[in-house]
Amino acid sequence: PAGDVVLSVQNLQAWYGESHILHGIDFEVRAGEVVTLLGRNGAGKTTTLKSIMGIIPKRSGSIRFEGKDISRASSDKIARQGVAICPEERGIFASLDVRENLMLPPQVRPGGLSLEQIFELFPNLKERLKSQGTKLSGGEQQMLAIARILRTGARFLMLDEPTEGLAPVIIQQIGHTIQRLKNEGFTILLVEQNFRFAATMADRYYIVEHGKIIDGFANSELSANMDKLHSYLGV
Ligand code: ATP
Repeated sequence: PAGDVVLSVQNLQAWYGESHILHGIDFEVRAGEVVTLLGRNGAGKTTTLKSIMGIIPKRSGSIRFEGKDISRASSDKIARQGVAICPEERGIFASLDVRENLMLPPQVRPGGLSLEQIFELFPNLKERLKSQGTKLSGGEQQMLAIARILRTGARFLMLDEPTEGLAPVIIQQIGHTIQRLKNEGFTILLVEQNFRFAATMADRYYIVEHGKIIDGFANSELSANMDKLHSYLGV
């Protein structure tokens, strides 16, 4: 069962230079939930995650995390509150090996996973410990990207299209891992194009269109919303 509201976003607007991208995003996430943002390419999902993380310089509106206003905080400060993002491009350093990549981000809070705990979640990474970033498969890179943010001690994880470009069997593994993280009490905000994947774990969905949230529903209301969903996503 979901807990208190941990993230509350109200009237979030964001810009890239002169381009006004987010036009008033409103949604919330409760402790222990998996919430998925759905929407077509370019709708503003990635920009929403980046705005929450404080890496879009020009933004306005209210973003509250665990009751604190983070709408003007630096990304460092937001990270220290326990918020982390796993970006779509994964950000693995090609010339560093798996261990070095894992050790790179600072531990910002107590409770970060130890290497032992990480290898328990991602056994493949243990076997690849000495491999350079460039030698990893897409799936291994994605696992490393998730593992890396778990080391920091973050409890609120934003995952941007973790299944993109991966084979079905790897997607399934990543799905199991996210389920486990959910069971262990992490709160997850997911951006996904792969709706079937999202449906295996999401508690709730929000639809992003042209920089706004235009609809939202719980997983239990999914079948009643299927037609609408098809029209929103154009599938
Ligand atoms: P996608 O699945 O394609 O990533 P998305 O819903 O995550 O879709 P965003 O990446 O948030 O969409 O992009 C929203 C809009 O912002 C798009 O029109 C995109 O072209 C524009 N945009 C994204 N990044 C930049 C940037 N660095 N500079 C200028 N415009 C950008």
